[in-house]
Amino acid sequence: MSWEQLRSIAEANRQYRQEEFSQPPKSCPNDGTPLEASPPGASSSLFCPMGDYRYPDDDHRPAV
Ligand SMILES: [Zn+2]
Repeated sequence: MSWEQLRSIAEANRQYRQEEFSQPPKSCPNDGTPLEASPPGASSSLFCPMGDYRYPDDDHRPAV
């Protein structure tokens, strides 16, 4: 495997991560419960029905 191939794989992984982190999570990172859409006017756009997570308020994933 050449350096050029390795470099392109790393680049593809980086782009994939960026796309993934730009999407809101589908489930609560604490308990895995599927997130529900907040009612209109709420400060967050998604929330965990268990009450322990709101997106984007509680989104602490590393910025890419
Ligand atoms: Zn939760």
